[in-house]
Amino acid sequence: MEITKIIIGLEVHIELKTKSKMFCGCPAGHFAKQPNTQTCPVCLGLPGALPVPNKKAIEWTILLGLSLGGEIPKLSQFDRKNYFYPDLPKGYQISQYKNPFSINGSLCLDNDKKIKIKRVHLEEDTAKLLHETVNGEKVSLIDFNRSGVPLVEIVSEPDLNSSDEAKEYLEKLQQLVRYLGISDADMEKGSMRCEPNINLEINEGDKSFFTPIVELKNINSFRFVKKAIDYEIHRQFEEFREKRIEKATGNKQTRGWDEAKQITFLQREKEEANDYRYFPEPDIPPIEWSDEEILNFKFQISSYELPWTKKQRFVDQYGLSDYQTNILTEDRKTADFFEECVRLDKVGVIEIANVIINKRSPEGLSPDQLIGFISASKTTSWNSEKEIEKLIEKLLKEHPEVIEGYKKGKPQALGMIIGLVKKDKNVLVSIDDIIKKIPL
Ligand SMILES: [Zn+2]
Repeated sequence: MEITKIIIGLEVHIELKTKSKMFCGCPAGHFAKQPNTQTCPVCLGLPGALPVPNKKAIEWTILLGLSLGGEIPKLSQFDRKNYFYPDLPKGYQISQYKNPFSINGSLCLDNDKKIKIKRVHLEEDTAKLLHETVNGEKVSLIDFNRSGVPLVEIVSEPDLNSSDEAKEYLEKLQQLVRYLGISDADMEKGSMRCEPNINLEINEGDKSFFTPIVELKNINSFRFVKKAIDYEIHRQFEEFREKRIEKATGNKQTRGWDEAKQITFLQREKEEANDYRYFPEPDIPPIEWSDEEILNFKFQISSYELPWTKKQRFVDQYGLSDYQTNILTEDRKTADFFEECVRLDKVGVIEIANVIINKRSPEGLSPDQLIGFISASKTTSWNSEKEIEKLIEKLLKEHPEVIEGYKKGKPQALGMIIGLVKKDKNVLVSIDDIIKKIPL
């Protein structure tokens, strides 16, 4: 008996960082805010309150769909997803079911494998349950600040075949939404959450079997995703060996990840889709796009340089390696910083790249300070340890305020240290070494 295929699909939820919530004017940013201070009748689900869709959130969802190569159907609509849970004040969540904003997208992994994306849809986040002890009593509290925050859901086909691929897919998705500037997508803070669906194909002799699908919940870091999936692969194989239960309608499970025990644990048997009694949201008319509007969205997305396009351009334009470009294009800020430095010093591309990648310069330098740092390191050569110590001693004695400023992280202090070193014609030392020797 052996595993012939690991089958993983991912549902990813990402909170959009719009100013206001999805269907009301309350602020959407809820992290570390005083509980229940950002609510109104709409996001509290009070009777008679009417939802007004957030235009920005819809636009961003469309842009995300397009950046994943998806189609934008001309007709979209919101639906009510009914279920009863204390974090859902209305008794239903406004989501999208039959007509999402984008369908048939994909995301390419580094090994050129295309992961198909079934749909990208928009919904509202739920309130947050907090389980605490108040006056010695265990209670559940509800914070409605998160209720109604725009939440985009990206659903992949089960095209992923290992925990590494799942991790890479998530990292690429996170990078993409950060490039687009539509979410911080921070797993630790809950603005990006993922639910892997996992099962196995197992072969025995000439027969193959599929294990029941398990959906993993509440995973809040990339590291945990990988560990939880790997554990689940192992658990399903062992379980099949013992009980021989095969995938069937109604035997999908939801399991959580216990980081302390390093295991997944059973949460509940999963509801089937029709248990949610989806029906069109009567308070929001369907949304129809004209050809011109769709064209306009496509034009907008063409003005963004997406991470994979930027990466390819860095390879072509600067002759950098895959490894170098991966790091330099990891986020837009680093990529822009690198290019600003290169504009100042066209010959030193490789050197600039290496200094940034290996973090060889002190933090917080501006592009021209970084160029200054590199040229200072180049024009000087190594002195002995003793001489360096002597130099630092001298600097400390003559210019304690500069060293103090450097320690406090003032960026101009480093420039002054470089200047002081260069002034002393007898000293030949690399700036790297000076920095190492500054007592902190
Ligand atoms: Zn509100």
